[in-house]
Amino acid sequence: MKQFWSERIKDLVPYTPGEQPKDRVFIKLNTNENPYPPSPKVLKAIEDAAGEGLRLYPDPEATALRQAIAEYHGLKPEQVFCGNGSDEVLGLCFYAFFTPGKKVVFPDITYSFYPVYTQLFGLDYEEIPLNEDFTLPVEKFLGSNGGAVICNPNAPTGRTLPLTDIRRILDANPDVVVLVDEAYADFGAQSAVELISEYPNLVVVCTMSKSRSLAGMRIGYALGNADLIAGVNCVKNSFNSYPLDRLALAAGEAAIRDVEYFECTRNSIMQTRERTTVHLRELGFRVHDSNANFIFIAHPAKSGKELQQGLRDRGVLVRWFNKPRIDQYLRVSIGTDADMERMCAACEEILKG
Ligand SMILES: *Cc1c(COP(=O)(O)O)cnc(C)c1O
Repeated sequence: MKQFWSERIKDLVPYTPGEQPKDRVFIKLNTNENPYPPSPKVLKAIEDAAGEGLRLYPDPEATALRQAIAEYHGLKPEQVFCGNGSDEVLGLCFYAFFTPGKKVVFPDITYSFYPVYTQLFGLDYEEIPLNEDFTLPVEKFLGSNGGAVICNPNAPTGRTLPLTDIRRILDANPDVVVLVDEAYADFGAQSAVELISEYPNLVVVCTMSKSRSLAGMRIGYALGNADLIAGVNCVKNSFNSYPLDRLALAAGEAAIRDVEYFECTRNSIMQTRERTTVHLRELGFRVHDSNANFIFIAHPAKSGKELQQGLRDRGVLVRWFNKPRIDQYLRVSIGTDADMERMCAACEEILKG
C-alpha cells in the first residue's frame, strides 16, 4: 500500500475532524459548531449571489469582504487576508512565515492541526508542555525559536492567555512571527488584534465557523501588518487563486456587517456556557473556566471514554481525545439551553448507573 505516494506524505498522519453523523439524529456537541442559524441577512446575501453570476470566477482578492472585515476590526484592507476556512489560512501562514530548520513552538495540548502542518511542510517544531492546570508557561515561549503559534483561547482546554502575556511573547520574539489563532476569541477573550499596529511580527487568525454560525461556508481570515499579509498572498497565489467562492464572499460580508445578530447569538452562548458550568459542577464535574464556545470537563467517578460512550448511547455527541494528559476529559460544545439540559440530564443518568 501507499505504492505511489510521495516520500513527503508516506509517514504523514492527517488531522481527524470530529464526527459528522449521517445515520441518526444526535445533539451535536462535538465540533464546536454554533447552535444558532446564520443571520437572515447572510441567507439573503447567499440567495442573491446564487444567480447567473456563478458562471464567472469570484474576485480573487475578495475586495469587498476584506473591506468589510477591515472596517469591523479598525484596520486597512491590505492588513486582511481571506481564505477557505481558517484551517486553510493557518496552513498558508505556516508556509509563508516558518522556515525549515528553524523550530516552531506551540503547546503540547492545543489545536492538533498545528503539528500536521509542520510535518506536511517539513518544518521543525517543539511541543512545549502546558502546566498541570493547562495554563501556558509563558517563559518557555520567550525567544530562541523560529516562530510561535498560540491558540487563544486554547483548544481544547478553553483557557485564555491575557494580552499582557501575548505582549511579552511578542516582545521576546521580534525577529519571528507569532501567530495567534483566535477561532474562539469572540466568546469572551480579549483579542490581540489591537496589538497589530504595534507589532509587525503579529498575525491573528480568525474564523466565521464558530461565532458567526458559518462552518458550512468555509470562511477564515488573517490580520496583520501589510507586509505579512503580502506574504500570505504570495503563497495563496502560488496555490489557488480563488479560495473563496462567490457565495462565501457574499455570506462573509453580510455576516461581518450584521453586528447586532452576532452580539445576540454570542451572548446567548456565553450565558448558556455559564449556566451549564454551574450545573455540571453541581454534578461533581471538574469544569475549567472557559472563554470559548465549549467547556473542558472531567468527572472523578467515570473515565473520559466511558462518559463519551454513555453520552453517545443517549444521543449526545461530544469530543474525547485519546491522548496523554487529557484522556480523562471531554470537550463539550455549547449548544442551546435545551441541548445543554439534555446533555446534563444524560450525565446525571450515567453517573447514577
Ligand atoms: C475550528 C478551528 C479552526 C478552523 O476553523 P475553520 O472552520 O477552518 O475556519 C481553527 N483553529 C481552531 C483552534 C479551531 O478550533
